[in-house]
Amino acid sequence: MNWPTSIFLISTLALALVATPAYAFFYGIDWYQWAIFFGLFLATGLSITLGYHRLFSHRSFEAKWPVRLFVLLFGAASFEGSAIAWVSDHRHHHKHVDHDEDPYNIRKGFFHAHIGWLLVKLGPAHPLDNVRDLLSDPLCRWQDKYAVPLAFLVGFGLPTALGALHGGWIGALGGFLVGGVTRVVVVQQMTFFINSLCHMVGDQPYSFRCTARDSWIMALFTFGEGYHNFHHEFQYDYRNGVKPWQWDPTKWTIWLLNRVGLVSNLKRVPSEKILLAEVVSAQQRIRSHLARVQAAESMCRIAAAWHECMDKIAASLTTYREELNHAIEEKKRFSRDALLMIRRELRLALAQLKIGSSIMAS
Ligand SMILES: [Zn+2]
Ligand SMILES: [Zn+2]
Repeated sequence: MNWPTSIFLISTLALALVATPAYAFFYGIDWYQWAIFFGLFLATGLSITLGYHRLFSHRSFEAKWPVRLFVLLFGAASFEGSAIAWVSDHRHHHKHVDHDEDPYNIRKGFFHAHIGWLLVKLGPAHPLDNVRDLLSDPLCRWQDKYAVPLAFLVGFGLPTALGALHGGWIGALGGFLVGGVTRVVVVQQMTFFINSLCHMVGDQPYSFRCTARDSWIMALFTFGEGYHNFHHEFQYDYRNGVKPWQWDPTKWTIWLLNRVGLVSNLKRVPSEKILLAEVVSAQQRIRSHLARVQAAESMCRIAAAWHECMDKIAASLTTYREELNHAIEEKKRFSRDALLMIRRELRLALAQLKIGSSIMAS
Protein backbone atom coordinates (compact mmCIF):
# COMPACT_ATOMS: atom_id res chain seq x y z
CA MET A 1 0.00 0.00 0.00
CA ASN A 2 1.08 3.57 -0.67
CA TRP A 3 -0.05 4.94 2.70
CA PRO A 4 0.57 8.71 2.16
CA THR A 5 -1.45 8.68 -1.10
CA SER A 6 -4.14 6.40 0.36
CA ILE A 7 -4.54 8.51 3.52
CA PHE A 8 -4.68 11.72 1.45
CA LEU A 9 -7.30 10.35 -0.96
CA ILE A 10 -9.49 8.88 1.77
CA SER A 11 -9.24 11.85 4.17
CA THR A 12 -9.98 14.46 1.48
CA LEU A 13 -12.97 12.40 0.31
CA ALA A 14 -14.22 12.09 3.92
CA LEU A 15 -13.78 15.86 4.54
CA ALA A 16 -15.58 16.70 1.27
CA LEU A 17 -18.49 14.42 2.16
CA VAL A 18 -18.79 15.32 5.86
CA ALA A 19 -16.99 18.55 6.80
CA THR A 20 -18.05 20.62 3.77
CA PRO A 21 -21.80 19.88 4.18
CA ALA A 22 -21.43 20.57 7.94
CA TYR A 23 -19.75 23.92 7.16
CA ALA A 24 -22.51 24.75 4.66
CA PHE A 25 -25.12 23.91 7.33
CA PHE A 26 -23.58 26.05 10.09
CA TYR A 27 -22.14 28.99 8.13
CA GLY A 28 -23.56 28.75 4.59
CA ILE A 29 -21.57 28.97 1.38
CA ASP A 30 -21.75 32.43 -0.20
CA TRP A 31 -21.10 33.53 -3.79
CA TYR A 32 -17.49 34.42 -2.94
CA GLN A 33 -16.68 30.85 -1.87
CA TRP A 34 -18.47 29.46 -4.94
CA ALA A 35 -16.32 31.81 -7.04
CA ILE A 36 -13.12 30.44 -5.38
CA PHE A 37 -14.40 26.90 -6.01
CA PHE A 38 -15.21 27.44 -9.71
CA GLY A 39 -12.14 29.60 -10.37
CA LEU A 40 -9.81 26.95 -8.95
CA PHE A 41 -11.86 24.11 -10.47
CA LEU A 42 -11.35 25.62 -13.93
CA ALA A 43 -7.68 26.49 -13.32
CA THR A 44 -6.69 23.07 -11.92
CA GLY A 45 -8.96 20.99 -14.17
CA LEU A 46 -7.72 22.70 -17.32
CA SER A 47 -4.12 22.51 -16.09
CA ILE A 48 -4.50 18.73 -16.09
CA THR A 49 -6.37 18.33 -19.41
CA LEU A 50 -4.73 21.17 -21.35
CA GLY A 51 -1.36 21.18 -19.60
CA TYR A 52 -0.36 17.78 -18.19
CA HIS A 53 -2.29 15.89 -20.88
CA ARG A 54 -2.47 17.60 -24.28
CA LEU A 55 0.59 19.86 -23.93
CA PHE A 56 3.13 17.83 -21.95
CA SER A 57 2.04 14.21 -22.60
CA HIS A 58 1.17 14.50 -26.29
CA ARG A 59 2.90 17.70 -27.44
CA SER A 60 -0.23 18.52 -29.43
CA PHE A 61 0.72 22.24 -29.42
CA GLU A 62 3.52 24.51 -28.20
CA ALA A 63 3.09 26.95 -25.32
CA LYS A 64 4.95 30.04 -24.14
CA TRP A 65 6.43 29.99 -20.63
CA PRO A 66 3.56 31.87 -18.90
CA VAL A 67 1.14 29.11 -20.01
CA ARG A 68 3.61 26.38 -19.02
CA LEU A 69 4.18 28.00 -15.61
CA PHE A 70 0.42 28.40 -15.04
CA VAL A 71 -0.41 24.77 -15.82
CA LEU A 72 2.55 23.56 -13.75
CA LEU A 73 1.44 25.60 -10.70
CA PHE A 74 -2.25 24.73 -10.93
CA GLY A 75 -1.55 21.20 -12.14
CA ALA A 76 0.40 20.66 -8.90
CA ALA A 77 -2.61 22.09 -7.02
CA SER A 78 -4.75 19.23 -8.29
CA PHE A 79 -2.62 16.88 -6.13
CA GLU A 80 -1.93 14.48 -9.01
CA GLY A 81 1.85 14.60 -8.66
CA SER A 82 4.42 16.37 -10.79
CA ALA A 83 3.98 16.78 -14.55
CA ILE A 84 7.04 14.56 -15.17
CA ALA A 85 5.64 11.62 -13.16
CA TRP A 86 2.09 12.12 -14.54
CA VAL A 87 3.26 12.27 -18.15
CA SER A 88 5.50 9.22 -17.75
CA ASP A 89 2.54 7.16 -16.47
CA HIS A 90 0.30 8.52 -19.23
CA ARG A 91 2.73 7.74 -22.03
CA HIS A 92 2.97 4.20 -20.65
CA HIS A 93 -0.83 4.07 -20.67
CA HIS A 94 -0.95 4.92 -24.39
CA LYS A 95 1.95 2.65 -25.33
CA HIS A 96 0.70 -0.42 -23.44
CA VAL A 97 -3.04 0.31 -23.28
CA ASP A 98 -5.09 -2.66 -21.93
CA HIS A 99 -1.93 -4.64 -21.10
CA ASP A 100 -0.01 -5.33 -17.89
CA GLU A 101 2.44 -2.43 -18.33
CA ASP A 102 -0.50 0.02 -18.60
CA PRO A 103 -0.52 1.66 -15.12
CA TYR A 104 -4.32 2.03 -15.16
CA ASN A 105 -5.17 -1.08 -17.16
CA ILE A 106 -8.99 -1.28 -17.41
CA ARG A 107 -8.80 -5.07 -17.88
CA LYS A 108 -7.94 -5.25 -14.15
CA GLY A 109 -11.38 -3.79 -13.42
CA PHE A 110 -13.06 -0.43 -12.80
CA PHE A 111 -11.70 0.04 -9.26
CA HIS A 112 -8.08 -0.57 -10.28
CA ALA A 113 -8.23 1.79 -13.28
CA HIS A 114 -10.12 4.46 -11.30
CA ILE A 115 -8.21 4.72 -8.03
CA GLY A 116 -6.85 1.30 -7.00
CA TRP A 117 -3.61 1.69 -8.97
CA LEU A 118 -2.79 4.86 -6.97
CA LEU A 119 -3.41 3.20 -3.61
CA VAL A 120 -0.83 0.49 -4.31
CA LYS A 121 1.64 2.44 -6.47
CA LEU A 122 4.99 2.69 -4.68
CA GLY A 123 7.14 5.17 -6.58
CA PRO A 124 7.69 5.08 -10.33
CA ALA A 125 7.10 1.56 -11.64
CA HIS A 126 9.36 2.26 -14.61
CA PRO A 127 12.38 4.43 -15.43
CA LEU A 128 11.65 7.99 -16.57
CA ASP A 129 13.16 7.30 -20.00
CA ASN A 130 9.95 8.25 -21.81
CA VAL A 131 9.97 11.89 -20.59
CA ARG A 132 13.42 13.08 -21.68
CA ASP A 133 11.79 16.13 -23.33
CA LEU A 134 10.32 17.24 -19.97
CA LEU A 135 13.51 16.47 -18.06
CA SER A 136 15.30 18.95 -20.32
CA ASP A 137 12.73 21.69 -19.50
CA PRO A 138 13.96 23.69 -16.42
CA LEU A 139 10.38 24.70 -15.49
CA CYS A 140 9.25 21.05 -15.42
CA ARG A 141 12.32 20.00 -13.42
CA TRP A 142 11.63 22.79 -10.91
CA GLN A 143 7.97 21.77 -10.56
CA ASP A 144 8.99 18.11 -10.16
CA LYS A 145 11.36 19.05 -7.32
CA TYR A 146 8.80 21.15 -5.42
CA ALA A 147 5.59 19.37 -6.48
CA VAL A 148 4.41 18.62 -2.91
CA PRO A 149 4.98 22.06 -1.33
CA LEU A 150 3.52 23.71 -4.47
CA ALA A 151 0.45 21.46 -4.21
CA PHE A 152 -0.19 22.49 -0.59
CA LEU A 153 0.62 26.15 -1.25
CA VAL A 154 -1.51 26.65 -4.38
CA GLY A 155 -4.07 23.87 -3.75
CA PHE A 156 -4.89 24.59 -0.10
CA GLY A 157 -3.00 27.78 0.87
CA LEU A 158 -4.39 29.98 -1.92
CA PRO A 159 -8.13 29.22 -1.37
CA THR A 160 -7.66 29.49 2.41
CA ALA A 161 -5.98 32.91 2.05
CA LEU A 162 -8.64 34.11 -0.42
CA GLY A 163 -11.36 32.93 1.99
CA ALA A 164 -9.67 34.74 4.90
CA LEU A 165 -9.51 37.98 2.89
CA HIS A 166 -13.29 37.98 2.57
CA GLY A 167 -14.52 36.38 5.80
CA GLY A 168 -11.76 36.12 8.44
CA TRP A 169 -11.26 32.76 10.18
CA ILE A 170 -14.66 31.39 9.17
CA GLY A 171 -14.02 32.48 5.58
CA ALA A 172 -10.58 30.84 5.69
CA LEU A 173 -12.14 27.55 6.83
CA GLY A 174 -14.72 27.82 4.03
CA GLY A 175 -12.01 28.60 1.46
CA PHE A 176 -10.02 25.56 2.63
CA LEU A 177 -12.99 23.17 2.64
CA VAL A 178 -14.82 24.38 -0.49
CA GLY A 179 -12.11 25.81 -2.78
CA GLY A 180 -9.37 23.50 -1.43
CA VAL A 181 -10.48 20.04 -0.32
CA THR A 182 -13.81 19.66 -2.16
CA ARG A 183 -12.41 21.12 -5.38
CA VAL A 184 -9.40 18.73 -5.22
CA VAL A 185 -11.75 15.75 -4.78
CA VAL A 186 -13.93 16.86 -7.72
CA VAL A 187 -10.96 17.44 -10.08
CA GLN A 188 -9.30 14.18 -9.05
CA GLN A 189 -12.47 12.13 -9.56
CA MET A 190 -12.89 13.83 -12.95
CA THR A 191 -9.37 12.73 -13.96
CA PHE A 192 -9.89 9.23 -12.53
CA PHE A 193 -13.06 8.82 -14.62
CA ILE A 194 -10.99 9.40 -17.78
CA ASN A 195 -8.90 6.35 -16.84
CA SER A 196 -11.86 4.18 -15.84
CA LEU A 197 -15.25 5.00 -17.40
CA CYS A 198 -13.78 6.46 -20.62
CA HIS A 199 -12.51 2.92 -21.28
CA MET A 200 -15.94 1.42 -20.50
CA VAL A 201 -18.80 3.73 -21.52
CA GLY A 202 -19.63 4.90 -25.05
CA ASP A 203 -18.97 4.10 -28.71
CA GLN A 204 -15.89 3.26 -30.75
CA PRO A 205 -16.39 5.30 -33.95
CA TYR A 206 -12.70 5.51 -34.86
CA SER A 207 -11.07 2.27 -33.76
CA PHE A 208 -11.59 -1.09 -32.08
CA ARG A 209 -7.87 -1.44 -31.37
CA CYS A 210 -8.29 -0.73 -27.65
CA THR A 211 -11.01 -0.28 -25.02
CA ALA A 212 -11.10 3.55 -25.25
CA ARG A 213 -14.57 4.95 -25.98
CA ASP A 214 -16.25 8.19 -27.05
CA SER A 215 -19.00 9.47 -24.75
CA TRP A 216 -20.52 12.96 -24.77
CA ILE A 217 -21.76 12.39 -21.21
CA MET A 218 -18.22 11.68 -20.02
CA ALA A 219 -17.00 14.71 -22.04
CA LEU A 220 -19.36 16.95 -20.02
CA PHE A 221 -17.60 15.98 -16.77
CA THR A 222 -14.03 15.86 -18.06
CA PHE A 223 -13.42 19.15 -19.94
CA GLY A 224 -13.92 17.30 -23.23
CA GLU A 225 -11.66 14.31 -22.53
CA GLY A 226 -14.63 11.94 -22.85
CA TYR A 227 -13.97 11.58 -26.59
CA HIS A 228 -11.36 9.05 -25.63
CA ASN A 229 -11.68 6.70 -28.62
CA PHE A 230 -10.65 9.52 -30.96
CA HIS A 231 -7.87 10.51 -28.57
CA HIS A 232 -6.34 7.02 -28.41
CA GLU A 233 -6.45 6.73 -32.20
CA PHE A 234 -5.09 10.24 -32.89
CA GLN A 235 -3.28 11.16 -29.69
CA TYR A 236 -1.26 14.05 -31.12
CA ASP A 237 -4.39 16.05 -32.18
CA TYR A 238 -5.02 19.00 -29.82
CA ARG A 239 -8.76 18.21 -30.03
CA ASN A 240 -10.45 15.25 -28.33
CA GLY A 241 -13.97 16.20 -29.43
CA VAL A 242 -12.93 16.62 -33.06
CA LYS A 243 -16.34 17.58 -34.49
CA PRO A 244 -17.13 21.29 -34.16
CA TRP A 245 -20.24 20.62 -32.04
CA GLN A 246 -18.59 18.21 -29.60
CA TRP A 247 -18.23 19.53 -26.03
CA ASP A 248 -14.51 20.06 -25.56
CA PRO A 249 -13.72 23.18 -23.46
CA THR A 250 -10.03 22.20 -23.47
CA LYS A 251 -9.78 22.49 -27.29
CA TRP A 252 -11.69 25.82 -27.21
CA THR A 253 -9.28 27.16 -24.56
CA ILE A 254 -6.26 26.05 -26.62
CA TRP A 255 -7.81 27.72 -29.70
CA LEU A 256 -8.42 30.96 -27.75
CA LEU A 257 -4.86 30.93 -26.35
CA ASN A 258 -3.65 30.49 -29.92
CA ARG A 259 -5.69 33.54 -31.01
CA VAL A 260 -3.97 35.71 -28.39
CA GLY A 261 -0.56 34.31 -29.31
CA LEU A 262 0.20 32.36 -26.13
CA VAL A 263 0.23 28.94 -27.79
CA SER A 264 1.12 27.90 -31.33
CA ASN A 265 1.61 25.02 -33.76
CA LEU A 266 -1.74 23.36 -32.99
CA LYS A 267 -1.61 19.84 -34.41
CA ARG A 268 -4.64 18.53 -36.31
CA VAL A 269 -5.09 15.15 -37.96
CA PRO A 270 -6.14 15.65 -41.63
CA SER A 271 -9.92 15.27 -42.10
CA GLU A 272 -9.39 12.53 -44.71
CA LYS A 273 -7.46 10.41 -42.21
CA ILE A 274 -10.22 10.83 -39.60
CA LEU A 275 -12.91 9.89 -42.13
CA LEU A 276 -10.90 6.86 -43.23
CA ALA A 277 -10.76 5.66 -39.60
CA GLU A 278 -14.54 6.14 -39.34
CA VAL A 279 -15.09 4.13 -42.54
CA VAL A 280 -12.81 1.28 -41.40
CA SER A 281 -14.48 1.21 -37.97
CA ALA A 282 -17.99 1.20 -39.54
CA GLN A 283 -16.95 -1.68 -41.83
CA GLN A 284 -15.70 -3.68 -38.84
CA ARG A 285 -18.98 -3.00 -37.02
CA ILE A 286 -21.00 -4.19 -40.06
CA ARG A 287 -18.85 -7.32 -40.41
CA SER A 288 -19.22 -8.31 -36.78
CA HIS A 289 -23.00 -7.67 -37.01
CA LEU A 290 -23.22 -9.87 -40.13
CA ALA A 291 -21.20 -12.60 -38.41
CA ARG A 292 -23.68 -12.51 -35.52
CA VAL A 293 -26.64 -12.74 -37.96
CA GLN A 294 -24.97 -15.65 -39.80
CA ALA A 295 -24.37 -17.44 -36.52
CA ALA A 296 -28.05 -16.94 -35.64
CA GLU A 297 -29.12 -18.25 -39.08
CA SER A 298 -26.99 -21.39 -38.80
CA MET A 299 -28.36 -21.86 -35.29
CA CYS A 300 -31.89 -21.72 -36.77
CA ARG A 301 -30.94 -24.42 -39.32
CA ILE A 302 -29.53 -26.65 -36.56
CA ALA A 303 -32.69 -26.11 -34.51
CA ALA A 304 -34.92 -27.08 -37.46
CA ALA A 305 -32.90 -30.27 -38.14
CA TRP A 306 -32.98 -31.19 -34.46
CA HIS A 307 -36.73 -30.59 -34.35
CA GLU A 308 -37.23 -32.97 -37.30
CA CYS A 309 -35.02 -35.64 -35.69
CA MET A 310 -36.84 -35.38 -32.36
CA ASP A 311 -40.18 -35.65 -34.18
CA LYS A 312 -39.09 -38.96 -35.75
CA ILE A 313 -37.87 -40.34 -32.41
CA ALA A 314 -41.12 -39.30 -30.69
CA ALA A 315 -43.12 -41.02 -33.46
CA SER A 316 -41.19 -44.29 -33.11
CA LEU A 317 -41.59 -44.19 -29.33
CA THR A 318 -45.36 -43.74 -29.83
CA THR A 319 -45.43 -47.02 -31.75
CA TYR A 320 -43.62 -48.84 -28.93
CA ARG A 321 -45.93 -47.24 -26.35
CA GLU A 322 -49.01 -48.45 -28.18
CA GLU A 323 -47.55 -51.97 -28.57
CA LEU A 324 -46.66 -52.12 -24.86
CA ASN A 325 -50.11 -50.80 -23.78
CA HIS A 326 -51.83 -53.28 -25.97
CA ALA A 327 -49.67 -56.12 -24.61
CA ILE A 328 -50.46 -55.13 -20.99
CA GLU A 329 -54.21 -54.93 -21.67
CA GLU A 330 -54.21 -58.28 -23.45
CA LYS A 331 -51.86 -59.76 -20.81
CA LYS A 332 -49.51 -60.82 -23.59
CA ARG A 333 -45.81 -61.18 -22.94
CA PHE A 334 -43.08 -59.83 -25.20
CA SER A 335 -40.07 -61.88 -25.99
CA ARG A 336 -36.89 -60.99 -24.06
CA ASP A 337 -35.25 -59.85 -27.31
CA ALA A 338 -38.17 -57.52 -28.17
CA LEU A 339 -37.98 -55.91 -24.69
CA LEU A 340 -34.21 -55.49 -25.03
CA MET A 341 -34.66 -53.87 -28.44
CA ILE A 342 -37.24 -51.36 -27.11
CA ARG A 343 -34.96 -50.55 -24.13
CA ARG A 344 -32.05 -49.96 -26.51
CA GLU A 345 -34.16 -47.68 -28.72
CA LEU A 346 -35.34 -45.76 -25.62
CA ARG A 347 -31.77 -45.26 -24.35
CA LEU A 348 -30.69 -44.09 -27.81
CA ALA A 349 -33.58 -41.62 -28.02
CA LEU A 350 -32.80 -40.16 -24.55
CA ALA A 351 -29.08 -39.86 -25.40
CA GLN A 352 -29.93 -37.99 -28.62
CA LEU A 353 -32.25 -35.70 -26.66
CA LYS A 354 -29.44 -34.91 -24.17
CA ILE A 355 -26.87 -34.17 -26.90
CA GLY A 356 -29.34 -32.05 -28.87
CA SER A 357 -30.36 -30.07 -25.75
CA SER A 358 -26.76 -29.25 -24.84
CA ILE A 359 -26.01 -28.12 -28.43
CA MET A 360 -29.08 -25.86 -28.42
CA ALA A 361 -28.18 -24.46 -25.00
CA SER A 362 -24.66 -23.55 -26.12
ZN1 LIG B 1 -3.61 10.79 -23.69
ZN1 LIG C 1 -6.95 6.02 -22.08
